[in-house]
Amino acid sequence: MSKIGSIFVKTLLKDLVTCKSCKTFLDCKDQRTTGYNGKKYGRKIYVCPSCKLQIETDQLHLVIDKILNDIRLNNPKQIYEGVSTRIHEEMEVLKNAILELKRGKEMYLDQIEKVKDEIRVRLERQIIEQEKKFLDVLTTYRISINKRIEHVEKQINEKQKRITEQQKVDSNKETWNLILQDAFVDREKIDNVELRNILTNLIEEIKIDKNMSIEYQLRHNLEKQSLSDQLELQF
Ligand SMILES: [Zn+2]
Repeated sequence: MSKIGSIFVKTLLKDLVTCKSCKTFLDCKDQRTTGYNGKKYGRKIYVCPSCKLQIETDQLHLVIDKILNDIRLNNPKQIYEGVSTRIHEEMEVLKNAILELKRGKEMYLDQIEKVKDEIRVRLERQIIEQEKKFLDVLTTYRISINKRIEHVEKQINEKQKRITEQQKVDSNKETWNLILQDAFVDREKIDNVELRNILTNLIEEIKIDKNMSIEYQLRHNLEKQSLSDQLELQF
């Protein structure tokens, strides 16, 4: 349990934190190694895959307590209603994105038919050397369009999956009661699975900038908050 638990702790905010300048999700990395004397070296970090901006896991995870406090300052009913509205908006965006992707796919399918015709016509002719080269180009083009179609299909499926998940969360009030009940329990009594569930359902996004300032939005109100605000207030 302790091993699984510790693996999970370092990824509590996976897919919820982006780099403010690259708009990319940060990867969770455990760079710790154990030396011959049994001492641990290295750090657990979240790192931006494109600009390599990094932040220590412990430092970033301070935001979790702040978020839990924010949630507790709200009325559970308002949180539920806010998130539900948000889910409907998100589903609308997802549905439009799917329509757009499907249109793109139609266009690629159309292109591929044209390329196939072109190849067929040229194959029927007597093939001279130059034609052969052109056929190679067409074939390569056909393969690349096929790859684009596969990519679009993958995106459609992912978005469809997200819609199904959202529908499940939205329609199930019981689930929401449980999530919110957990959020109002003392932090020490919340296990990592419950905590991850609270965080993924209630956080819209967390952003880190080059000065290590942590900004976040909760799904039910989308007000921009920052971790430093609270620290300033404390001192
Ligand atoms: Zn970055």
